[in-house]
Amino acid sequence: MIRIGILGYGNLGRGIECAIKHTKDMKLVAVFTRRDPSTVKILTSDAKVENIENVLEYKDDIDVMILCGGSATDLPKQTPEYAKYFNVVDSFDTHANIPEHFEKVDDAAKASHHFGLISAGWDPGMFSLNRVYANAVLPTGADYTFWGKGVSQGHSDAIRRIEGVVDARQYTVPVEAALEAVRSGSNPELTTRQKHTRECYVVAKEGADKARIENEINTMPNYFADYDTTVHFISMEEMKKNHSKLPHGGFVIRTGKTGWDNENNHVIEYSLKLDSNPEFTASVIVAYSRAVYRMRKEGKIGAHTVFDVPPAYLLDMSAEEMRAHLL
Ligand code: NDP
Repeated sequence: MIRIGILGYGNLGRGIECAIKHTKDMKLVAVFTRRDPSTVKILTSDAKVENIENVLEYKDDIDVMILCGGSATDLPKQTPEYAKYFNVVDSFDTHANIPEHFEKVDDAAKASHHFGLISAGWDPGMFSLNRVYANAVLPTGADYTFWGKGVSQGHSDAIRRIEGVVDARQYTVPVEAALEAVRSGSNPELTTRQKHTRECYVVAKEGADKARIENEINTMPNYFADYDTTVHFISMEEMKKNHSKLPHGGFVIRTGKTGWDNENNHVIEYSLKLDSNPEFTASVIVAYSRAVYRMRKEGKIGAHTVFDVPPAYLLDMSAEEMRAHLL
């Protein structure tokens, strides 16, 4: 049994618990939280909930610690810190800062002889793998990524910070015409506005100036100003009934050419349609935790990404079974 710890218990932490339940080779030992443990209710009856301060007491009881904090402020500190004591996995998704994050985790994990896998999930994660395979197979070509339809937590939070807004949900939606242009192999150059639209559902305070709120959303730099955005004002009841889930997904497409004169076109497309972003992300992380356990057992240490993990290490199946059924 691979003994798992969860550090941080939000949407992703709960998703990890669900994913572990459906494995045969993993067991959840404990959940660690910065909050008062008595206020954090988990689903697994025989696992402990501990304050993060007690984490070192579990040094010899946990094979892989899964870090479920947020990428903005938690993981940049937590992953290098806990790589000193555990083999760790995170889903760090601030793409621009991945090289810096990697270096810090690598230093900590090498010094303490642990294995750290960073940025596992779907993007980064499964999407990244698909970009690598597609670039290797079609070196002459172009890459495209579309996201959605799905909830963007960051954009939803940005709307919630506007004066007069009680709650908000923002969906990122890929533009169908842009997707079709890419799939045709015509290698279109697409602007930000041509690739995605943004749909916002907003619950406003009673008596709030809706025209001002809508204008503040539409003109918000970095978040909405460069997109065609629609704003719908709805009731709290409708928000709870129709917008309480966290769906997401997207498309990674590479179009490329082969032949002596590049006369033949090819399209590689990988797509995800996810009812629950955190549960799917958690399922990817749990598969990679199995690989972390196996690679550490082989003596490997330091930071790694999904690019460094052999696919066979992800599955709870023998090499013979895999060759017979999946090859
Ligand atoms: P949450 O905001 O739900 O949880 C983040 C942390 O906040 C938790 O670890 C928890 O820490 C704390 N927390 C959670 N609920 C509460 C609460 N009610 N009150 C106080 N604190 C709370 O984030 P998610 O789980 O949704 O996402 C985590 C990260 O996963 C994201 O930041 C994102 O970077 C990453 N991600 C990566 C993806 C990928 O494809 N690579 C895809 C999706 C997400 P504690 O228990 O210590 O209080």
